[in-house]
Amino acid sequence: MTQIAVLGSTNMDLVAYVERAPQLGETVTGREFRTVPGGKGANQAIAAARAGATVSMIGAVGHDAYGVRMRETLEHSGVDTDSLRTIDCPSGTAHIVVDDEGGNAIVVIPGANGTVDHLAPGDEGVIASADTLLLQLEIPLPAVVAGAEAARRHGVRTILTPSPTRTLPSELLDNIDLLVANEREAAALADRADPRDAAADLLGLVPQVVVTLGAAGSLYLTRDAAPLVIPAPRVTAVDSTGAGDTFVGALAVALAEEKPIREALSWAAAAAALAVQREGASTSMPYRPEIEAQYT
Ligand code: ADP
Repeated sequence: MTQIAVLGSTNMDLVAYVERAPQLGETVTGREFRTVPGGKGANQAIAAARAGATVSMIGAVGHDAYGVRMRETLEHSGVDTDSLRTIDCPSGTAHIVVDDEGGNAIVVIPGANGTVDHLAPGDEGVIASADTLLLQLEIPLPAVVAGAEAARRHGVRTILTPSPTRTLPSELLDNIDLLVANEREAAALADRADPRDAAADLLGLVPQVVVTLGAAGSLYLTRDAAPLVIPAPRVTAVDSTGAGDTFVGALAVALAEEKPIREALSWAAAAAALAVQREGASTSMPYRPEIEAQYT
């Protein structure tokens, strides 16, 4: 089996569903409350494990009930959590208010994720034994840089999701093989509104770029071949939360299995199309047999 390492965040999403979000100083009564395990790191780890890889999650949870539940959630999908440390502080949380129009307001408290600012002993060995390292930007940047450098030292492919968007230093970009951004992230990073223009600019920073375009599929650019546009299967979307993370997790598995890029992107699109037809983020992510059935 292919090996994927993920260095990133685990968060508990605390979601309040309300008719209308409160103004500052106001109290409103909501309709429903849900706790949903998330964080882009954990979500990509679950997506890759369900897509058929052996996955190790490097990061931290807090010494609390959320930390226990997030570890269990990862393990339930087959993710190895030996490198997921338990720190004596609260777990990362995202406090989300969703109104009846589908609009949301979010406060993220990094908690234990904020302590992941370097590689711990053993992390480099986990990265070295992987085919691919998945990185996002929900943990402190020094750890992301250190992870990418370790991967490069050991010839491990690196895939970066630039979320949340921020300025990226060359010491990180120089060690990234593939950047996978959605339209908003690509536009912000390149400061160009059109995804094609943004992708072309980003190609100046890293050798391969994928921009995901929601229901319109994805765009792939590399320095030495013509751009590819890969359509998404036409489906009825119910909840697109986690679509991008499902896409990245599945794409990493397909590339590690040495599928050609066009096939790997279509396979990732098949996985993401399955996820958007179901409620939730990690809970909606498909297992390999479902992806194979959707793909063929
Ligand atoms: P993010 O979830 O990061 O905002 P996108 O919305 O671009 O990213 O979605 C990522 C991928 O998920 C797309 O490239 C596509 O393959 C798939 N996807 C998203 N929305 C849909 C949809 N409505 N129908 C089919 N596939 C979708």
